This record gives sequence, structure tokens and C-alpha cells, in this order.
Amino acid sequence: MTQRRVTILGATGSIGRNALKVMAHAPGRFTLEALTAQENVEALAAAALAARPKLAVIGNPAHFAALKQALSGSGIAPAAGEDALLEAARRPVDVTVAAIVGIAGLKPTLAAIEHGGIIALANKECLVAAGELVMRAAAQHGARLIPVDSEHSAIFQVLDAAHPGWVKTVTLTASGGPFREWPLERMRQATPEQAVCHPNWAMGPKISVDSATLMNKGLELIEAQHLFALAPETLAVLIHPESIVHSLVAYCDGSVLAQASVPDMCTPLAYALAWPERMDAPVKPLDLAAVGGLTFSHPDEARFPALKLARQAMAAGGALPAVLNAANEVAVRAFLQGYIGFLDIVKTVEKTLDQADNKPLHGLEDVLAADGAARAFALKKTSAEAREDVSGLKPLLRKFASH
Ligand code: NAD
Ligand code: MG
Repeated sequence: MTQRRVTILGATGSIGRNALKVMAHAPGRFTLEALTAQENVEALAAAALAARPKLAVIGNPAHFAALKQALSGSGIAPAAGEDALLEAARRPVDVTVAAIVGIAGLKPTLAAIEHGGIIALANKECLVAAGELVMRAAAQHGARLIPVDSEHSAIFQVLDAAHPGWVKTVTLTASGGPFREWPLERMRQATPEQAVCHPNWAMGPKISVDSATLMNKGLELIEAQHLFALAPETLAVLIHPESIVHSLVAYCDGSVLAQASVPDMCTPLAYALAWPERMDAPVKPLDLAAVGGLTFSHPDEARFPALKLARQAMAAGGALPAVLNAANEVAVRAFLQGYIGFLDIVKTVEKTLDQADNKPLHGLEDVLAADGAARAFALKKTSAEAREDVSGLKPLLRKFASH
């Protein structure tokens, strides 16, 4: 059993909290260097006082005084602001859990990659927007990216990476989300509360909405393309409402290897935290007889056009995946705040992709420029739509505010 020093970027989120739960399940095995969060200073302070890192960083500097007061006398150093967050990410550790949501995780993840070690990567948006850059940086600094996303953890466990020529297809499964069987007309009226109510997984608001539009699976195709150096045509998606089989790899001899477990992020987190060893995780054992049956079907791309858009961006490469991601982040936020309807999320992404200039991305500046331009366009689009239909404007849904 190897002892590990760990930093969690995004410690107050759904993944961050599950990572802390997995570590608490193995007393003595993990020590904490730093915990970070953006807004939720109370949750950060509570997590720090329970898990005893050396450092706790709140991204929003307005919360520094509150953090300092909450941690006074604890011996845990408080810090605030973007630079402090990057400094925390740069501290050498054995494992960094990259669990910030959205493009905001890109710079901190790159900072962690610079010190090498294992990156337990949940922050898929940084691979979607800057996959080549992130994979290059990891190779250059000798960092190991171990996926936390359940599908990618599954693929990592069953893919014979040494023999890519033997692999025929890699299939990512998708639960189908809460609107799997809803007709389009009903989806048009879907509320944020309905969209974040995932049937199988309890997750943060952004990824929950992504699961409802199936954009999450589109982002995951691009994530898999980069993580496993797979050609886009090798990648497939199957709807699997039980969320028991997390992904499948088909080989040239007809064998299909799949990884299965109950839908609980503690399993992929335990896998990434202990890799290349294994550890006990606080999860229920999988009882297939109790599950009874496993079902699979093809996704309906007419009702879920996000998949097609993601495939187009993946095939085009260059700046388009970054544009897709940025427009989606803006549109999801606009939906959660009540400014646009559910179907407008993917429409906004499509319009942003249509007008985007697809340039090659040579470095971080190029990624941030493509991200910024797409974000500005999508923002204009979503607020323009809101202005056109003032009657539909709902009050800001505060419960969906960032952690
Ligand atoms: P979440 O919203 O629950 O938590 C996000 C975390 O990021 C919080 O700690 C928050 O403080 C921090 N954060 C938010 N904005 C930030 C900013 N601007 N700067 C710095 N920190 C910021 O999200 P989540 O569901 O835990 O997801 C985190 C990541 O993991 C996402 O990329 C998501 O796609 C991925 N993921 C999540 C799950 C899941 O089960 N939740 C599964 C697979 C992948
Ligand atoms: Mg996933």
C-alpha cells in the first residue's frame, strides 16, 4: 500500500467531495497538501477542518477574510485569488484531483501537470478545449493522466493501449439522462430543476444539464479521442439506462471487454487515487441478479443533436472543440439562470460553431482566444434571445450558483 500526498482542485464540488470520501475510507493512506474552491467558503473551510490539508485556497478573493477566520488556530494556511490557486496546483504532490468544472480548470490543471505525478482527471472540458496542449504538456513533464470520468476510467481499464491495431471500436455508454424518452415538445418546456434531476448519478449542475442534452457524451467522445489517441471513427455511443456497464472495447477477434460497477463516482476515483494499485472504495457491490437486465440502444440524434455537433467539432479539430465547449458553458449557465429554454442550449452551440473561424491552436493563448471569442458570441446570442422573449424570463435560480 503506497502512501500518497494529494491536492484536490475543486474540493467542494460533487467530484471533490467524493474524492474526500474515498480518502477518508482509507485512514493513513492519504495526506492532503491543498484543497481549493471558488465561492463556497463555508464548505471549503469545513472540508479543510475535517481533512487537514496544509493549505486551503478560495478562488474569489472577496471570501479571504471569512476563510482566514474559519481556519484561525487550525494550522491550515488560508489563501485566495487565482494566483494562489495556481500556486497550490504547482506544489509537488503524488496525485492531483483535477475536479474544477469548465475551462476554469485548464490553467490549474496545466500547472499541476508541470510538477509531474498523477493527475486524476475529472475536468473533461480542459481536454475538450485544449486536448493536444494538455496531452503534450503531460508527456513533456512526465505526468500520468488517469481518467476519473466513469466511461474513461472503464476504457482505461480494458483498453490494450500497447496494441492499438487490435482495437476495432470503443463504445461509451450514456444513461440517456432525464429526458431520454421525452418528445421534443416536452423537452422544449423542460425546467432547470427537471434537467438537473439525473436518474442515476448525483452530480454538479453543469454536467447534469450536459447529461440531459447528451452534450456530456459529445464532450466525452472528444475527451476519449485525446486520452487514448483514438481516431474519431473508432468511437461510438450506446444508450444504456441502467448505467452499470461504463464502456466497452471491441477487439479484432470479436472479443468485447467491458467494465461494470454500480453508478458511483467513488469507484473511478478510488481507481485513480490508488493506481496502479487498487483500494477498497465506499461503494455497494454490484449485484447483477438484483439489477436483472441490462439494456442498450442507439442514441436518437434527432432529439439529441448535441452528439452530432460534438462529432463535427471532433472531426474538424483545431479551434472548434474549444468553441463547442465555450458556447455550451455559456448556454448551460443561461439555461440554469432561466434566460433560455432547454432546446436553446444546443441551438446556441450550433450557431456559435457556424460563425466560428477554425484556426489551428498552437498554445494556451490560442485556446483562450478561441474560448473567449466563442463565449462572447454565445453570450450575445443568449441574452438577445432573452430580450426577445422577456415574458419567459425567470428569476435567477440561486440554488444553481457555483460552489
Ligand atoms: P461541481 O459544480 O459540483 O464542482 C465544481 C468545483 O469547481 C467546485 O469545487 C467549485 O468551487 C470549483 N470551481 C467552479 N468554478 C471555478 C473557477 N472559476 N475557478 C476555480 N474553481 C472553480 O462540479 P462536478 O460535478 O464535481 O464536476 C467537476 C468536473 O468533473 C467537471 O468537469 C465534470 O464534467 C467532471 N465530472 C463530474 C462527474 C460527477 O459525477 N459529478 C462525473 C464525471 C466527470
Ligand atoms: Mg462520464
